[in-house]
Amino acid sequence: MVALPVVSNPPTPPRSVRVSLTDRCDFACIYCRPHKSDGFAKERMTADAMVTMAKGLARAGVRRVRFTGGEPLLRRDVVDIVARIAEIGFADLALTTNGSRLTKLARSLRDAGLRRITISLDSLQADRFARLTRGGDLSRVLSGIDAACAAGFDEMKINAVVVRDENDAEMEDLVRFAWSRGIVPRFLEIMTIGEGARMADRVVTGAEMRSKLAHLLEEGDAVRDVDRGPARYVRARGDSSKRVGFITGASDTYCAGCDRLRVSSDGMLRPCLATSDGVSASREADRHDADGVARAVADAWKFKPDGETWRGCNEPSAALISIRAIGG
Ligand code: SAM
Ligand code: SF4
Repeated sequence: MVALPVVSNPPTPPRSVRVSLTDRCDFACIYCRPHKSDGFAKERMTADAMVTMAKGLARAGVRRVRFTGGEPLLRRDVVDIVARIAEIGFADLALTTNGSRLTKLARSLRDAGLRRITISLDSLQADRFARLTRGGDLSRVLSGIDAACAAGFDEMKINAVVVRDENDAEMEDLVRFAWSRGIVPRFLEIMTIGEGARMADRVVTGAEMRSKLAHLLEEGDAVRDVDRGPARYVRARGDSSKRVGFITGASDTYCAGCDRLRVSSDGMLRPCLATSDGVSASREADRHDADGVARAVADAWKFKPDGETWRGCNEPSAALISIRAIGG
């Protein structure tokens, strides 16, 4: 089943989970997938199975859920799934989206109980945006961001993957765009996973990103938010209400202390994004067996890599992974 090095001292149990609602996507971002016809899973969990899965996760000790994909808003039943999972009572419910379908869905998602939303936005220039996403329509995403702002989420973030000689000169524009709307901008190193593994020469490190924005930001160490994943934040110069986040998956793999589990849309539980190994809980979810899901979570978690020695997306196995398929 699993080839992962067994963890010596895992954080127990997993507290945070990323649930992929679908592996389908309407974009093909150049660091994520090779083209739009790179294959899809044969089976996806039904909405009922997703709800059972979430109940099992809660019983196993999970407290925070983020929906992702692929593109989670391609699922027609996304609002229903969010509403039913919100009733379980997780401490946090968030979603990451490319924003292409957000204009219609933002208000319903908020009303369904979604608390926080992250929208991927690599460029404010339509031609560059289309190039990076292989055909994405910037105007639809900007209109989706406006709709999300109007819907009143507890927190909004923008994720921009920084690609050398493409959008690296646009970082300040993205920061000002986000700050002017009360959104937290975050900049991601290209993770050397899947397509990203073929772009090592285009990685802009977190240190380089930070120096490009130095005139806007306070000096000093970037700090993590408690219980909020690997991003590190720096405050704006002279305005502590504004921040910029950095996610440095290539130069600092932050595996130590990782409490995250991933659930792919076919019901596979994976303790690490950088390998495709895992334990399936799809049968348990189909049979509405939440206790069985909880047992599968405990089984999968035994194989969490040892964060002291594991090098995350710098491991050779990472190049074989599809972030879109597993759920990024
Ligand atoms: N489709 C949704 C979206 O793009 O927001 C959700 C899934 S996507 C896999 C989640 C996040 O992973 C996005 O912000 C995307 O930019 C990021 N991502 C994908 N491939 C990446 C890579 N190789 N390196 C860094 N970030 C990556
Ligand atoms: Fe789709 Fe998100 Fe991957 Fe882009 S990053 S191809 S939007 S899954």
